[in-house]
Amino acid sequence: MGILKRRINHIIKSENEFFEQEGQDVTFSLRGEKHACSNPDCHWDERYQASSNPTCSICGGKYWIYSTTSYTRKALIHWVTGLELKELEMGGVKVGDCTLTFSSKDENLLNTLLTEKGYLFLDKKKLSPKSVTIDNFGTTVVVITSRVA
Ligand SMILES: [Zn+2]
Repeated sequence: MGILKRRINHIIKSENEFFEQEGQDVTFSLRGEKHACSNPDCHWDERYQASSNPTCSICGGKYWIYSTTSYTRKALIHWVTGLELKELEMGGVKVGDCTLTFSSKDENLLNTLLTEKGYLFLDKKKLSPKSVTIDNFGTTVVVITSRVA
């Protein structure tokens, strides 16, 4: 336990330093808590799973309004090229997809990424997460994203 634990802590520490030094700022804009629409003329319609007021100016007829939680973190950025796709077997990955690698030390961000919908913003480019993977040590997160027009 002792040696392995120290080794893992060393990996975490050096990885975190690397992400901080070499990473780019990525803004994770993820869905937060859900609130009922505040319009008194807007009610939840169980049958249609939407608002009873489809033209509600507050919720747009959805009834539930989600807050957005934003996090900005340093991540290593990699854009997928055609050559890599030929050389690697990467299921579901397309040319122009972007992988982001960052530290998993922020459990709040990680849990939100794994459970909620949202977008990531990199240099004003909007990205949609396709997969979230955590490495075997649980120290590094890789998010594969695709561009959103
Ligand atoms: Zn409403």
